Order: sequence, then C-alpha cells, then structure tokens
Amino acid sequence: MSCSHVDVRVALLGDKAAQERLTERGELLPCAHCRSKMTISYDDEGIEDSMGRKWSWTAVCSKCCASTGLCYSEKQAIAANNTRAPILTPEELEWVIKNHDKHTSKNM
Ligand SMILES: [Zn+2]
Repeated sequence: MSCSHVDVRVALLGDKAAQERLTERGELLPCAHCRSKMTISYDDEGIEDSMGRKWSWTAVCSKCCASTGLCYSEKQAIAANNTRAPILTPEELEWVIKNHDKHTSKNM
C-alpha cells in the first residue's frame, strides 16, 4: 500500500506519470472541490456514438456531486478524474493524505 500512497501524493502535485499509474490500477484521486471520495457511476441510458462507444461512465463525488462529465469507458472516466485534479498546497496535500489513510484503514 505504501507505494500507492506515494503515487497519490505525487499525482496530486501534478505528476503525470503517477496519475497514469493510478489510472492503470483503477484508483481515483479525491474530489477536486471537497476532497471526498470519488466513485464511478454507470448510466445504462448513455448515448452510443457512431463508433459504438456508449458514453455512460462518469466519476462522481460522493459528497458534493462534482463530476467529470460523460466518458465512454470506466478507464476514461478514471483518467479524466485523475488528470483534472488541481495542484495542491503542501497543507492541503497533508489533509488529503490523512483522509485517504483513514479511509483505506477503515476498509481493511
Ligand atoms: Zn466533492
């Protein structure tokens, strides 16, 4: 788990490679607005484009309902969330890390 936490830290500081590693693993960075947990939602009534891709996937904040907008795959929604995260100040980053740790330990 420790290497994942390092990736979350550097990804929040705007490191593209770390953002890509998180996306590869299917991990979501916290909400850009309120820092809460983001979840992936799937809308069964999504619109299919001319290439047969269904635009049904969104990353949505569980608290303030901020979202990435529609994407055509779960992976794309995760990438959209992870790459649009703002660059945080060190103080904000500590807050995120603390909350992230709390969350993961709860799940164990
Ligand atoms: Zn939020």
